[in-house]
Amino acid sequence: MLVKTQPEEFQDYLTDASNMPGGHVEKIFLPDSAEEISTILAEAYNDRKAVTVSGARTGTVGGAIPFGGYVISLERLNKIKSINKDTMSAVVEPGVILADLQKAVEAEGLFYPPDPTEWSCQIGGTVATNASGARSFKYGATRDFVEGLSVALADGNVLKLRRGEVIANGDGVIEMATANGRKITVKTPTYERPNVRKNVSGYFNEQPLDAIDLFIGSEGTLGVVTEIELKLLPKPKAFFSGIVFFADEKDLLAFVDEVKAISMLAPERDRVEPYAHTDVPASAADQVSASLIEYFDANALKFISEKFPETPDGMAGAIFFEQETTEETEDVLFEAWNELLEKHNADIDGSWFTTTEQDREKMRAFRHALPVSVNERVVRNKRRKIGTDMAVPDENFPAFLRYYKDILNASGMEYVIFGHIGDCHLHANIMPRDEDETIKAGHIYGRCIAQALMLGGCVSAEHGIGKLKSKYLYVMMGERYLNEMAELKRAFDPNGILGRGNMFDGRF
Ligand SMILES: Cc1cc2nc3c(=O)[nH]c(=O)nc-3n(C[C@H](O)[C@H](O)[C@H](O)COP(=O)(O)OP(=O)(O)OC[C@H]3O[C@@H](n4cnc5c(N)ncnc54)[C@H](O)[C@@H]3O)c2cc1C
Repeated sequence: MLVKTQPEEFQDYLTDASNMPGGHVEKIFLPDSAEEISTILAEAYNDRKAVTVSGARTGTVGGAIPFGGYVISLERLNKIKSINKDTMSAVVEPGVILADLQKAVEAEGLFYPPDPTEWSCQIGGTVATNASGARSFKYGATRDFVEGLSVALADGNVLKLRRGEVIANGDGVIEMATANGRKITVKTPTYERPNVRKNVSGYFNEQPLDAIDLFIGSEGTLGVVTEIELKLLPKPKAFFSGIVFFADEKDLLAFVDEVKAISMLAPERDRVEPYAHTDVPASAADQVSASLIEYFDANALKFISEKFPETPDGMAGAIFFEQETTEETEDVLFEAWNELLEKHNADIDGSWFTTTEQDREKMRAFRHALPVSVNERVVRNKRRKIGTDMAVPDENFPAFLRYYKDILNASGMEYVIFGHIGDCHLHANIMPRDEDETIKAGHIYGRCIAQALMLGGCVSAEHGIGKLKSKYLYVMMGERYLNEMAELKRAFDPNGILGRGNMFDGRF
């Protein structure tokens, strides 16, 4: 195990993609095994030392930033232990980089769908934040692919959990035992989950709760994930992808509505009528089944055109979509998407389509370039980006998008809106230029949170709460439900050493 004790070695570990300032630490441990993690934790627990778990630090809410105590960095636990084609599963250490896993499973003809746009993150980090992203519209979030976890608890005890094996009873109580027999009993928090497609605001509590789901999305507050078993899918033969531009936003939104409506019917339809045929059916558009629907507003397109000058000018917005395809279905799908695009007045001539892997990578790079450019811009401005991550119920999405645009346009500040429109979850990124704008952006952020909550939404759909959003989680949950969460945390970590400052503000 490597231990860093010199302040000049600490710098990289004191911040993440949030650029939250003020991080500081006493010592950084880089363990080589799960056993070493347990040893560090047992000592820290006895000494009541704060322990912050550090993945690749691509998180955007300060979750991996330490404010005192120790850091456990998982970068050396980076082995893919196995990929099994028969059971379509993989077992990995937490520090495996997402891009490496995706490459390795694809080489075996398999597919790991979670795709949080930032491929340099660690699998452990994606489990701890239940990362989702572009492909969640069809495949779901990280949670949907986690079958087994080993977790080192705050006192060093090890909990091994397999999906389906430890479930809450009718009263919401879960009983579990660590590898050396410590019994833990927890009560599932009772809050009602908002009716949104994505939500990582607070501990998961869907009934009947599986113990494994408590740790997914727990942001380093309940235990250190030391090994993960993942479910894999067969690798799709190819994807039909497009970035399509619209001169009028109303057309764009109507297009998205129709794509979503048709895609929702797809699983049922594909079972009864697989489209392994080349004839174009009566309504070609019926064959649309998007795996990904991503949005760029007009400002985002302007911003991105600095890196991709081929982006057409004067557009109200664009949609990036993908659908699984094969050589046999390619023409049918082209016809199907074309029908919808024509119907909704897309700029078909200016739009981009592909079925090749190479061009698809370019499209993904186009999508990725946006949050990266935003981060570069705010670093250049020596400011922090103010980025929203709320999701609202489907029926309230148009009202929420209108609210975003009205309040941001009126502010006169530089902003972009982009993201996962298929899941009614967009990111508004405000880029303040000076201190006054930073303060103003903070107020606007608060008003957007209030609006999302009024519309039945959640504070965080995918980035998590971390340290930056704990006060907003308090607004969403209120005292009673945060107390239930705190009680659950105490059952695993009575000395409160893990992930201090994440999710809970000073009151808990
Ligand atoms: C440009 C950009 C785009 C992004 N887009 C998306 C997106 O579309 N969707 C999305 O979901 N996210 C997105 N993210 C953020 C995303 O949360 C992270 O990329 C990722 O999930 C965190 O992984 P990490 O290894 O970097 O974890 P870190 O940032 O190091 O840590 C995140 C949290 O997890 C905890 N943690 C890390 N490892 C472990 C472990 N082994 N055990 C217990 N706790 C642990 C940390 O303590 C911290 O609280 C984006 C980030 C960037 C920079």
